[in-house]
Amino acid sequence: MTERKIALITGGSRGIGLACAKELAKAGCDIIINDICEAEKAQPALDEIKAFGVNAYFYRFDVSNDEEVQANVDKMIAEHGRIDVLLNNAGITKDGLFIRMDMEQWERVIKINLTSAYCVTHAVIKHMMKARQGSIINMSSVVGLHGNPGQANYSASKAGLVGLTKTLAKEFGSRNIRVNAVCPGFIQTAMTANLPNIEEYMKAIPMKRLGTPEDIAKTVKYLALDADYVSGQAIEVAGALII
Ligand code: NAP
Repeated sequence: MTERKIALITGGSRGIGLACAKELAKAGCDIIINDICEAEKAQPALDEIKAFGVNAYFYRFDVSNDEEVQANVDKMIAEHGRIDVLLNNAGITKDGLFIRMDMEQWERVIKINLTSAYCVTHAVIKHMMKARQGSIINMSSVVGLHGNPGQANYSASKAGLVGLTKTLAKEFGSRNIRVNAVCPGFIQTAMTANLPNIEEYMKAIPMKRLGTPEDIAKTVKYLALDADYVSGQAIEVAGALII
């Protein structure tokens, strides 16, 4: 019997992260979810993942705090031996027009969305290097590729993830570590629940529906487990959205 792969998913207790956790669990991976929330709040997510007959674990830490990340990844490796798949998914928005965007608003989003990927990847990748295999997926966004008014901080952070993805794919390809980005369009989650001008966005989506977390999860599963020769790519999953 082959050993199960182990996938670490940041921000995995709800939304897109949880859908990805369930898709990878359905494919037979053991799952480690991280989140900033209390363990109690993440318990329903763990139960949903375990229903696929795999093991599921929760580690609470702030993905943008380098020391917390390092300590928790060390603990994961001590407890589970390895991490085969890393999905850098945790993210936030703090929208506003650039002219009114203050430094706190800028730095917070860059830290949680982009610096976090440095912290978690830096801690995990050395173990993947030793194992001479691994798949890393960064949750970017269509706005990181095309921009979006009111999201200068967010789109810069998501564009940064694309640059990081392509560079790491080149630095670690020889170690059999693949690095890709997924760029969702407008997906039905808490993050988009209160978008003010959703009708306007709908007009720009040729497929005439918002995406679901499961739409994103299928692409993540493909990149994580099936796409053996795909690396350095930023894949749009956006219903042909053009912005
Ligand atoms: P969501 O429902 O708000 O989930 C984000 C998760 O990240 C939450 O569980 C949140 O925890 C967690 N998180 C936030 N800050 C954290 C931190 N410092 N450390 C650890 N975890 C943290 O958002 P989503 O819509 O599923 O988005 C997931 C990812 O997809 C994000 O990177 C987002 O930018 C990206 N994305 C989303 C869309 C969309 O339309 N929804 C489109 C493009 C890209 P708490 O709940 O405890 O705050």
